[in-house]
Amino acid sequence: MNRLNYQNRLRIALLSEHASPLALLGGQDAGGQNVYVDEVSRNLGKLGVAVDVFTRCDDPSLPTVVQWAPGVRVIHLRAGERRFIPKDDLWPLMPLFRDALLAFVAADGAAYDALHGNFWMSGWVATESQRLLGVPAIQIFHAMGKTKARHQGAADTSPSERIAVERGVVGAVDALIAQCPSERAELVDDYDADPAKVTVIPSAVNIEQFTPVARDEARRRIGMPMDGLVVAYVGRMLPRKDVRNLVRAMARLRERWPELPTPTLLLVGGETIDPDPQVTPEIGALMRLADEVGVRASTRFVGKRQPHDLRDYYSAADVVVTTPWYEPFGLTPLEAMACGRPVIGSAVGGITYTVKNGETGYLVPPRDPDALAERIAYMLKRPELLRRMGRAARLRVEREFTWPMVAERTASLYERVLAAGSSALATTTTSALAEV
Ligand code: UDP
Repeated sequence: MNRLNYQNRLRIALLSEHASPLALLGGQDAGGQNVYVDEVSRNLGKLGVAVDVFTRCDDPSLPTVVQWAPGVRVIHLRAGERRFIPKDDLWPLMPLFRDALLAFVAADGAAYDALHGNFWMSGWVATESQRLLGVPAIQIFHAMGKTKARHQGAADTSPSERIAVERGVVGAVDALIAQCPSERAELVDDYDADPAKVTVIPSAVNIEQFTPVARDEARRRIGMPMDGLVVAYVGRMLPRKDVRNLVRAMARLRERWPELPTPTLLLVGGETIDPDPQVTPEIGALMRLADEVGVRASTRFVGKRQPHDLRDYYSAADVVVTTPWYEPFGLTPLEAMACGRPVIGSAVGGITYTVKNGETGYLVPPRDPDALAERIAYMLKRPELLRRMGRAARLRVEREFTWPMVAERTASLYERVLAAGSSALATTTTSALAEV
């Protein structure tokens, strides 16, 4: 089915200091970037692109090189102690990460065609190494420091150097990948990126893993009653995801639409398999809030689940909701859509791009529990609308948001960057010869 075949033609070093695909196997905190690195590398591998994923070694039992998938190796670089370190504390270790990368390349003899940086810190490592290795660098940030600072203010724990480093990376790399038009606008407006350097390649969802399950079957598998309405949130439990907005909306729903049977609120996510307010403080905050506003009895906290189990949780729901303050891209709305469920999302960042308002779900303003409650009530009263939107959602994902598509677009971008690089080289050589 793949149109392109890069067999033995491209070799890429994909740098991702804190987000390893291996983290998806265990119970560790893994978010969208881990999924991106895993899916992009494996799907590039299927196209015949050789990919080495470089990540920081956070466990002494990890071998240096792991054969992850056909054509894909994960390489654990020693930079700082081999234990989990929160990503906001990793910046001082980046010179070590760079040195370990260069030492590995020298020892392994691997000749890369390009570096692909993920997140701002690996972006810095890519720009440092691009000069030394003499290869182009392509960068995807996943999230921008300025946007984070704007929304989180004093709660932003990013190192103070972040924005200046991002600016340097934007200026130095050969190409930038934006995951959606709003990220492209951030790069151009907030960081003065040359618009010609930015390519929009939306992230995607694994449509074989995330596939519709009949509602009753899904509920049986996760131990939920067949009857009754279910509203679900799936994702990390962080203040910025504003699950509190959803808890408040459920209370408003009961006050304003008492005729509607009380839906169960299903909350999936957290640091551990059992929902533990000690380990995941946001779960504690949500439990207290649910008590306070009187919806604790109809709220079910599930804890973290592995990706292969999530289709049952999405499919158990009548509608899936995510209303973060901001969202660089947001994989969970796409996953819900791939499971054939409509999504109500806040009209921010990538969600405005993935959720088609009125077609595959609805967009609502963030931080507005009344607007959210109104949309939930509207949808829950219309089972036929839910079904229609769910079908449209699945179709939209199949047509626009699959990982093989992302891999093809990314490989074409590598080719374009390499072609531009070699023509720039040819021009330099020709003019240098002309001068002789
Ligand atoms: N996720 C998971 N188990 C959970 C909750 C979330 O595997 O219990 C995954 C989810 O399927 C998604 C990712 O974590 O692929 C979250 O990505 P998203 O882009 O939505 O948000 P981020 O966490 O990157 O801010």
